[in-house]
Amino acid sequence: MKIVRYRSQEGPRTGVLADDSVLDLGKASEGRIPTATWELLRNETALSDAHRLYESALEDPELRGEFAAPLEEVDLLAPVEGPEKVICLGLNYLDHAEESGHEAPDEPVIFAKLPSSVIGPGDDIVLPAVSEKVDYEVELAFIAGKQGKDIPAGKAMGYIAGYTVLNDVSARDYQHEKPGGQWLLGKSFDTFCPIGPWIVTPDEIEDPHNLELTCSVNGEVLQSSDTSNMLFRIPQIIEYISRVFTLQPGDVVATGTPAGVGMGRTPPRYLQSGDEVACTVQHIGTLRNAVK
Ligand code: ZN
Repeated sequence: MKIVRYRSQEGPRTGVLADDSVLDLGKASEGRIPTATWELLRNETALSDAHRLYESALEDPELRGEFAAPLEEVDLLAPVEGPEKVICLGLNYLDHAEESGHEAPDEPVIFAKLPSSVIGPGDDIVLPAVSEKVDYEVELAFIAGKQGKDIPAGKAMGYIAGYTVLNDVSARDYQHEKPGGQWLLGKSFDTFCPIGPWIVTPDEIEDPHNLELTCSVNGEVLQSSDTSNMLFRIPQIIEYISRVFTLQPGDVVATGTPAGVGMGRTPPRYLQSGDEVACTVQHIGTLRNAVK
């Protein structure tokens, strides 16, 4: 099931994608299913209600006619609203560690992006006046569906509500050239965290460590890899980070990027106004954002 969040006249809504239609879960369930996505993700009853409605909508064009709109007419938002945390892995693909001048780390390298940098599919990535080295990074991200602390790797996958695509936009001049390396600032400019186009529930992803991922700019493929190349896998990541902080429903965790980023190319290929970035993860979808 693909869970979407979108704009409507009554404010943001949560829906599911049934074929090429977006089914309004709140309306189709007569209000039983919450309109806030993170409330849906942590509520198992609402999730199974949503799944039933999704299956009926696939079979019943009338239900789609009453409560759904064609996807192309829907204005999608980032699929989670106001996550408490956006956590990222650095150097989680060997080829990207090498192009960044690092060896493979022997523990996960963790940093955060401020949640205020989150934007949705179709929103613009705005180039800041103070940076000339704005870069793209395609990543598989997962969304937590349950609260948890000190989660053992063997139980970690049960904390995942779904998967999405995240573009870890990065100002390399802040990240690497400012005193001390300003990772938080370089990764957290407004609009530097496109997420979407939707959340795919775990039942549709047979193995999150076996998904092709690509990033293209203006149609040219610049990153192309597979999540099987991740150095630290999702269960280890969850065990590692949940020793430090409590994972909350709606938290977003991005699992790192492969080689091919603009900084690692000769000559470097940084984002310019007018570019269109398309980040794709197999079985999830494509997240597109223009650069302004
Ligand atoms: Zn990254």
